[in-house]
Amino acid sequence: MESLHDRVIVLDRDLRHVEIYGNSRLERDNDPERWLGKTAAEISGPAAAAIHESMGRRALAGETVIYEWSWEDATEGRLWYQTRLSPIHATDGTVTGIVSVSHEVTSIRRALDSTTAGEARFRTLVNSMDGMVTVFDPELRVTGVFGDWTDRARREGDGPLADLVPAVLGAMGEPAFGEAAGRALAGEHVTHDWSMSRAGGRRHLRSVLSPIRDREGALRGVVAITRDISRQREAEDAVSRLEQARQHGQQLESLGRLAGGVAHDFNNLLTVINGYADLLRSSPALEPAARKMAEEIGRAGERAATLTRQLLAVGRRQTLQPRVLNLNALVLDMVDMLARVLGEPVELVSHLSPALGLVRADPGQVQQVLMNLAVNARDAMPDGGILTIETAHVQFTEEDARWHHGVRPGTYVLLQVSDTGSGMTSEVMTRLFEPFFTTKGPGRGTGLGLSIVQGIVKQSGGDVMVYSEPAKGTVVKVYLPLAPGTEVVEASDPVPASGERGTETILLVEDEARIRELVGGYLERLGYRVLTAADGILGATLVEAHGQAVDLVVTDVVMPNLSGPEMVARLRAGGRRVRVIYVSGYTA
Ligand code: ADP
Ligand code: MG
Repeated sequence: MESLHDRVIVLDRDLRHVEIYGNSRLERDNDPERWLGKTAAEISGPAAAAIHESMGRRALAGETVIYEWSWEDATEGRLWYQTRLSPIHATDGTVTGIVSVSHEVTSIRRALDSTTAGEARFRTLVNSMDGMVTVFDPELRVTGVFGDWTDRARREGDGPLADLVPAVLGAMGEPAFGEAAGRALAGEHVTHDWSMSRAGGRRHLRSVLSPIRDREGALRGVVAITRDISRQREAEDAVSRLEQARQHGQQLESLGRLAGGVAHDFNNLLTVINGYADLLRSSPALEPAARKMAEEIGRAGERAATLTRQLLAVGRRQTLQPRVLNLNALVLDMVDMLARVLGEPVELVSHLSPALGLVRADPGQVQQVLMNLAVNARDAMPDGGILTIETAHVQFTEEDARWHHGVRPGTYVLLQVSDTGSGMTSEVMTRLFEPFFTTKGPGRGTGLGLSIVQGIVKQSGGDVMVYSEPAKGTVVKVYLPLAPGTEVVEASDPVPASGERGTETILLVEDEARIRELVGGYLERLGYRVLTAADGILGATLVEAHGQAVDLVVTDVVMPNLSGPEMVARLRAGGRRVRVIYVSGYTA
């Protein structure tokens, strides 16, 4: 007994130490002999002995008691013991005392403490991770759910996460996820992207599944880390759509350049062909049969010239004659003609913004744009429908400008043509602007209409957007930049042009004699008295030296000697009230 490493003590009914055996560390500090006949409280004070007293009383009542206790050792630090108390029964069954066996468990206790702390730490870490950590057993049953989601879901009560977590767990039981989990169970790391539709919109999820191996390397299950990648996915989608649009725009541009380049050279050749065909036709020596042939050549040449002009528009190589113009006026001018093109069953409606800014564009070209769009709309509405022409202002931000390939931020005037026709599939939509792309039968469509529209609009610094769905109709938006130096102003009612005459005196200043005569003639026919001058100096002299009273000055701007504005300034400096209309070929 004395050789035991454990300490064995026999206590009497008063919990006094009666016998002490064993070889425990306690002996180093305390001579066990000193303990004999004493209670624990008498040895180490009532507080330290409290646990022994209470456990001892339980043992005296007949119970076998196991408990742990510790004390602070001066050199070793805190030492832990496990003590077992067994009642000693007399033959009549009464308890006469207790046998206490104490065993030191410090090392076990320390190991245990650090594991518990480690596990708590680990749990905190896992629960701090963004998303959800799910643990599966080898049968792929969920055995644990951790992560930030579960914590937040619990706190939220019934927020979006409280809705998502159970839904995600449920979906993990479905075959698609099971397949991924199965691969992980076979030892692979698997990234599984999936999505589910929830109340707040579609959620894109990414689960990374990894096999769980035990120390021997055997597969014990799967752990999945699931995160919400919706934002990231949306951003990626936006970038790839942007990139696609950009590439498509570049493709179309190079196609257009090719068409324009070919047309340019071809046009030069046509000039020669048509020129000689003309000469041939007018040659008196030609036989009638040969003249007929020359005429056919000429006609074909003219048709070819029309086609090349269209191709030049596609390739943005037309010579534009831009003017500052009001799109409303242009639309109103065309309404009658458009109605004829559209025919009976199509109703033409226009909503023109009254305060429309001016654009700087070639009016003939813009007419061509409107005409091509109207023709397409008509073709899309063989059984009739409504064609709506609208004008409005649009402000493009930096962000918008990124979406419109090659368009600068700023104010644009919108010309919108919508129809209630057949609409387009997305395949047609992607090829729409390709030169010669048509869905119309041979002889019915050239496939150039929209390519020309785009060529013209882009050359004018604008952009075209098309929105369409099969059977829902089509909306074409043509954006043209606001003319530089102009503002958006409320339009006043235009003065009716017909039947107006006058009797006042007008000073007409213009350096080009032919134009001076032409304009002077018009004004005189309208009843005005017209004074003419060939430049600013002469004009000013007429008024100053000869004391002519002038009601209105109509003058060119750029002239030799004294320009129009300089002349007007000189007249006003002389104290005259001068009303003036400037006329110029310099549209800008
Ligand atoms: P074309 O009219 O000669 O076919 P376009 O370049 O004008 O050539 O148009 C190309 C194609 O785009 C058309 O063949 C048609 O399929 C489609 N399209 C254009 N505008 C419309 C529209 N308003 N409604 C339905 N489809 C349209
Ligand atoms: Mg067309």
